[in-house]
Amino acid sequence: MLDSADQSQRLLAQLRFPCGDVPEAGDIKNVAPGIYWLRMPLPFQLNHINLWLVEETDGWTIVDCGINTEVTRELWEKIFANRLNGRPVTRVISTHMHPDHVGLAGWLCERWGAEFWMTLGEYMSAIAGRNDFIEREDTRAAHLLHNGVPADRVALFHRHKGGYAKGVTPLPPTFQRLIHAHPVTLAGHRWDVIVGRGHAPEHASLWCPELNVLIAGDQVLPKISTNVGVWPNEPRADALTWFLDGFSRFRRLPANALVLPSHGFPFIGLHTRLDQLVAHHDARLGDIAAAIASRGEEGATAWDMVPVLFPRHLDNNQVVFAFAETLAHLHCLETRARVKRIVLDGVHRFVALVDPDVEPPADDSDTVVMDVGAT
Ligand SMILES: [Zn+2]
Repeated sequence: MLDSADQSQRLLAQLRFPCGDVPEAGDIKNVAPGIYWLRMPLPFQLNHINLWLVEETDGWTIVDCGINTEVTRELWEKIFANRLNGRPVTRVISTHMHPDHVGLAGWLCERWGAEFWMTLGEYMSAIAGRNDFIEREDTRAAHLLHNGVPADRVALFHRHKGGYAKGVTPLPPTFQRLIHAHPVTLAGHRWDVIVGRGHAPEHASLWCPELNVLIAGDQVLPKISTNVGVWPNEPRADALTWFLDGFSRFRRLPANALVLPSHGFPFIGLHTRLDQLVAHHDARLGDIAAAIASRGEEGATAWDMVPVLFPRHLDNNQVVFAFAETLAHLHCLETRARVKRIVLDGVHRFVALVDPDVEPPADDSDTVVMDVGAT
């Protein structure tokens, strides 16, 4: 989700971007000892992804792969020919299952005979995605109708069969599992795996205390807020709560860590950015809570609330993500006991539990001290 241009500039000014310009297409740029930044194009509104090359003693590790297109493969070949100092790619790591991150993992591993590392949740989800199992047509239709999408608008959400598999080459048949808090070694240093949820099932970020570098994946981005959505195969997911809860794992890191995000520029200001993102989602949650309260006892469906969160015109593809994100905010409000769900004729509606404009009454009862120890 994009903030307004002014707001976005004001927030960006609170971060530092120490790595300078983007590397040229097909080139790499050193950003930390043994860590190189490269960019690949994406055929979407979000038009690029940052990938990372890590220099090992016996070769190279690639962190995230780019989407499966001719252009990306050609750019990789250019880098292989000019930038690897004659040494092989020995390992490929993907932070998560989205096509821009795992798209070429199978191709890269086969091309180099390299190992493949990923979390179990992401690996299995990528395989399910290639088999069109995550969004079956019937599951999607039921999910949309339950959440108030009019029957004649369901077609807006149509996804071409095999769309995911087009962007993602067949997964490597074997993998090594990344596990939260279990360290791995890259470039001779210890890196801790930090798992986050809400954007993807079991997204892995990599944190190196010695280098003070965080490979953030999509979990913390400097300019845009990560898409956090509820998808048809897990219709009661509390994705936004999970996503925000995961921030505590990043708040333990030093404020001056260099953050290497998958989109935008490497930056310093991790804690500031987390604060910005919490404020962003709190504001959106407040907007939706107020809009639901204004609907009285009837409440509103997720579909009704999409224009509250996204007032601008949305194309078909954007509607899909906007709807998923709106639902994630509603589920978060439900968890925070600000709305409750009622089901009428099979349609889920959300009704305000607390009028956000009314301050709760002051508690003027005597303070009771309970001698039960720390809680
Ligand atoms: Zn992603």
